[in-house]
Amino acid sequence: MSNADSKQRFLFPDSDVRGEVLRLETSLAPILQAREYPLSVQGLLSEAMAAVVLMASTLKFDGRLTLQAQGPGPVTLMLAEATHEGEIRGLARFDEKTHFEGAQPSMEELLGEGALMAITIRPTHGNQYQGVVPLDAPTLAACLEHYFAQSEQLTTRIWLAAGNGRAAGLLLQRLPDRIADREHNDDAWQNIEALAGTLTMEELLDLPAETVLHRLFHETPPQLPDAQSLHFGCTCSREKVRHTLLSLGTGELQAILDEMGHAEISCDFCGQSEAFDAVDLAQMIRESAQN
Ligand SMILES: [Zn+2]
Repeated sequence: MSNADSKQRFLFPDSDVRGEVLRLETSLAPILQAREYPLSVQGLLSEAMAAVVLMASTLKFDGRLTLQAQGPGPVTLMLAEATHEGEIRGLARFDEKTHFEGAQPSMEELLGEGALMAITIRPTHGNQYQGVVPLDAPTLAACLEHYFAQSEQLTTRIWLAAGNGRAAGLLLQRLPDRIADREHNDDAWQNIEALAGTLTMEELLDLPAETVLHRLFHETPPQLPDAQSLHFGCTCSREKVRHTLLSLGTGELQAILDEMGHAEISCDFCGQSEAFDAVDLAQMIRESAQN
């Protein structure tokens, strides 16, 4: 069971502090293998995948959360998505002419100075909303801590680790005082945060969640609700691809039919490809002309 990708929430029974710890490996593989990513891009994307699962775990409703980073650097786009059900997908686009070899480049070197990250939340029921975070701290984790402080007014600590085809994350959050009073919660927070700070990134990446939690908090063991399993999944479908093609309009579709005789479009997230032959295209041209 420790081999499966999962996310474990943990709660301290006598204070208003909660946490999440997770590890990704099998669900990360299809994401990292979809393209020939340079190692440093793999690392950043892996961290983003761990981050988006941590962020999605703080949602109070069903929905989908997307992190989308863009900037002037060699990594032109980074997308990470997670649902409340633990389904994840993600991708990065990068300039293939750039040499990513050498020392481990920083997030700023990869995404470029002034890069921004949009955090989009799409509730299953209700309107989507978006916040934008400047990626101006040295690490993705620090940028997200700022986001929680500003947008949610919650003190949050995040640790992210990536390597060897794995990603891991740890989140601590100080919730509004409910179980205990402020003074008690402040003390508990300081203590828990200090303990979490003793964890090395290797331990976070290599050890099962239960071992990490036992190692850190064996003196005040947290409650562990059922872990949530995490898995790769994509929302693409033939119907969506068809819709995208239709949106090109009659002229463009006719040009594709004339020049290529068919269309084949593959999903950037999962690689699944959808083929449309001349008959399909002709049908779409008729539909498009009627609208
Ligand atoms: Zn797909």
